[in-house]
Amino acid sequence: MDKQTDFVLRTLEERDVRFVRLWFTDVLGFLKSVAIAPAELEGALAEGIGFDGSAIQGFARVYESDMVAHPDPSTFQLLPWRGNPGGTARMFCDIGLPDGSPSFADPRHVLKRAMKKAADMGFTYYVHPEIEFYLFKQPLIPGEVPVPVDRSGYFDHTTATAGTDFRRTAITMLEQMGISVEFSHHEGGPGQQEIDLRYADALTMADNIMTFRVTVKEVAVMQNLYASFMPKPLADQPGSGMHSHVSLFEGDTNAFYDASSEYNLSKTGRQFVAGLLHHASEISAVLNPWVNSYKRLAGGGEAPNYICWGQNNRSAMVRIPMFKPTKASSARVELRSLDSSVNPYLAYALILNAGLSGIENEMVLPDPAEDDVWSLTDRQREALGIKPLPHSLDAAVRAMETSQLVADTLGEHVFDFVLRNKRAEYAEYMRQVTPLELSKLLPSL
Ligand code: GLU
Ligand code: MG
Ligand code: MG
Repeated sequence: MDKQTDFVLRTLEERDVRFVRLWFTDVLGFLKSVAIAPAELEGALAEGIGFDGSAIQGFARVYESDMVAHPDPSTFQLLPWRGNPGGTARMFCDIGLPDGSPSFADPRHVLKRAMKKAADMGFTYYVHPEIEFYLFKQPLIPGEVPVPVDRSGYFDHTTATAGTDFRRTAITMLEQMGISVEFSHHEGGPGQQEIDLRYADALTMADNIMTFRVTVKEVAVMQNLYASFMPKPLADQPGSGMHSHVSLFEGDTNAFYDASSEYNLSKTGRQFVAGLLHHASEISAVLNPWVNSYKRLAGGGEAPNYICWGQNNRSAMVRIPMFKPTKASSARVELRSLDSSVNPYLAYALILNAGLSGIENEMVLPDPAEDDVWSLTDRQREALGIKPLPHSLDAAVRAMETSQLVADTLGEHVFDFVLRNKRAEYAEYMRQVTPLELSKLLPSL
């Protein structure tokens, strides 16, 4: 028995754990969970747990539906909101097929494959997200405009509001599960919060983001609130982005840092950003995966909708944050397009491969956008070579359809599923006649 398995089995006993939840993520980014009795775990670790893959979004067709969840012992944690001792633990799973091979539909596998490619090129891939979300009052009524828990704005400090209390409890629980939080504050919209996680390798971070969402939703329910990661829940308020800071390391050296170049951004870093810009439209259907995502991008509120980069330019899609030259290790680039609803495994795999393609093909970074790109006219942006991101899910799907990079990164199965699913979502949306149309057109037409 290896050390990690031994630790897991010992902890089950010592902490009198009653249930172990096995977690994995479907292709659309929703968490799936099956609880097993602790006595079953040793067997599950050795052989996995069988389940019907055809019932999971994007996993399998009915005639090849048997799948096996293999818990990863390095992800064992107690869930703080279930009490301790006598509580519940969770582990993330890798999904396999009955013959022992990995399932190509497993988002965790997609990210692992991309990270293996980076490793073959000599890179380790680190990420940290700034996760924005809204806190709404209960009851939340589906179909009705939600009511934010407060009326505060960016960085507001108010005594003992629901938000401060909420962040304190949520952050304490995240820390108990080994997820370090760097910053937290009230965001721009009423009831909108932001919590920034400390960097980790991208696989750990994708697991952490899934855990983060569950934790935040659990804490909200405990406080009779509702937490939402919907990209744009309120029409006239900012949406919820998940800006992500990324870097590549070669051993202990940050491959994005070069003291002698402009912005201290190395050639590798510049090529990585060039790759991100080059592939931005193709990867958009995964980084902004819902019809609603495009309302965030179009709605101002500091969400980017033009493909460009800049230093400290918050209208740019990629920002090079300033950092102290003494801290070479913190050199990184911030991608601001993705929103809080993404499947983090698929999104981080595509961001990585888009950047690596910039390195492999020695892409040249265009000039930075120095101006506020929103205040330029279309002609000025055109003259500067600044193109818009896809303005709808439909446009994003069309950009993805012909992308070799996305097909290779997701694998054929996931690629086809995402395209089919997103086309259907857009078609359903187009079949609606909205209250806006009725109120604007019916009286006069
Ligand atoms: N809420 C904004 C977005 O949707 C970001 C605000 C910020 O700069 O943190 O991307
Ligand atoms: Mg923010
Ligand atoms: Mg940011």
